[in-house]
Amino acid sequence: MIIVLKPHPTPDVVQHVLERIEALGLTPHLSQGVARTIIGVIGDEEKLQVQPLQAIPGVEQVVPILKPFKLASREFHAEDTVIEVKGVRIGGGHLAMIAGPCAIESEAILMEIAAGVKAAGANILRGGAFKPRTSPYSFQGLGEEGLRILRAAGDTYGMPVITEVMDPRQVDLVERYTDLFQVGARNMQNFDLLKEVGRTRTPVLLKRGMSATVKDLLMSAEYILAEGNREVILCERGIRTFEDSTRNTMDLSAVPVAQGLSHLPIIADPSHATGKPDLIPAMARAAVAAGSDGVHIEVHSCPEKALSDGPQALLPEQYARLMEDLRQLAELMGKSIDVCEGVSV
Ligand code: PEP
Ligand code: MN
Repeated sequence: MIIVLKPHPTPDVVQHVLERIEALGLTPHLSQGVARTIIGVIGDEEKLQVQPLQAIPGVEQVVPILKPFKLASREFHAEDTVIEVKGVRIGGGHLAMIAGPCAIESEAILMEIAAGVKAAGANILRGGAFKPRTSPYSFQGLGEEGLRILRAAGDTYGMPVITEVMDPRQVDLVERYTDLFQVGARNMQNFDLLKEVGRTRTPVLLKRGMSATVKDLLMSAEYILAEGNREVILCERGIRTFEDSTRNTMDLSAVPVAQGLSHLPIIADPSHATGKPDLIPAMARAAVAAGSDGVHIEVHSCPEKALSDGPQALLPEQYARLMEDLRQLAELMGKSIDVCEGVSV
């Protein structure tokens, strides 16, 4: 750890900082330049991270040398993590193609959508049974009945399924029906939820919070990993900015940034990032070109009747056209897209 002092510190300030560090049982190494004074601190970096060193008067910046996320970091695990769910691999050159409606609305509608996305080449079926809606008066999801329908559709079409879990108290119930948990943007820092899914051995898709940095996202992943669940997939789904021509701003650079910092797979969700069907194919292609480990897209057979996020849903035929492009791009990039039974195409 390196402590940078404010410019031209008085000898008293320097002495005070040195004493504080020594009082913590650590060894300071003082380096006084013309313009800057810095102090290198040798000691247990983990112990140091919980000390409010930044609050010592005269300290400008505290720079950790080790990353605050450990299990999620590339230093800890150099190889890409590959997660396998019912024969579908995600990460390390294998792309997850997650598709389905925002919310599960009825068995008939979900079966129709599942048939469409499976035929197009999606390898994981999505659908929300518990929906985090901005308004309490909007459709909140079918709950357990929705989970049952999702499982039935996944089993019918031989697809692993993913659904959102919003509350630590729902984890057991949701786990009985799903192959992957989704932790949504609004819950990225629901630490009790992260710990609870971390205690399971079901893979977790962790979506980036709308005002979270990539490092915040990795710290949240660390909560899950620290509980013993090593199967975390990150997801860039757009962040809030001043730009209002899209629902959110898709931060595609987050994909290579996260891949540099972490071994965990990262996928992209152009549906929630753009909110506009016209923009989704371009951003999905861009995401694959940028190296993302998959794409998460909302598809509905009748978007105008959808109970949630209809305006951003692609029709199954639009999704099928996009998948043709994505398959070509994947091939160009030497990546594979597993089909549900684990056969590579
Ligand atoms: C969703 O996937 O339907 C969803 C609510 O996503 P997010 O958490 O990214 O808003
Ligand atoms: Mn949605």
